[in-house]
Amino acid sequence: MAILTMAGILDARPRVGYFYAGKSILNFVAEHLRKTKVKDIKGLPVIIQENTSVYDAVVTLFLEDVGTLFVTNEKGGLSGVVSRKDLLKIAIGNMDIHKVPVGIIMTRMPNIITVSPEDTVYEAAVKIVEHEVDALPVVVQVKEDKEGDLFYKVIGKITKTSITKLFVELGKTT
Ligand code: ADP
Repeated sequence: MAILTMAGILDARPRVGYFYAGKSILNFVAEHLRKTKVKDIKGLPVIIQENTSVYDAVVTLFLEDVGTLFVTNEKGGLSGVVSRKDLLKIAIGNMDIHKVPVGIIMTRMPNIITVSPEDTVYEAAVKIVEHEVDALPVVVQVKEDKEGDLFYKVIGKITKTSITKLFVELGKTT
């Protein structure tokens, strides 16, 4: 009752008791998704370098128990993303995966879909669905010293699992 009252779904009046306050549980969920920010639920990103071999990338995938690896260039800026299927595709070919660097097979900037820490979880979920990807790097734009180029620093990740975990939390309280 207390949670439903706090959420605005029920209201309480003396001698009247609890009554429906007009706000649906769906409204409550929608509000929560739009109120929760990416920075509140982001996870730790697993980052590799462009010159990491495909073999080492596969090993990293298993050791870190993740499905997506984020790739940075020598300056530490986001340069690409490697997914499970990117690695499978090259692994079933005839190339020597000890020699091929992930820089060759990754999806490259500027085609990477990113989110910022201040974006809402709803915006992140929409990007995941629209672009049909499993994970988004959470980035901040940093001004680079030498050339003055702007580049993205990866500070986290939002995955389908992060969003599912939020739904589990919502399920517990509603
Ligand atoms: P998989 O298909 O391996 O299960 P995804 O659906 O996440 O994983 O990846 C599909 C394709 O999209 C892959 O080629 C991958 O490199 C690319 N990709 C994954 N995440 C992103 C992203 N955030 N931005 C752009 N491309 C991505």
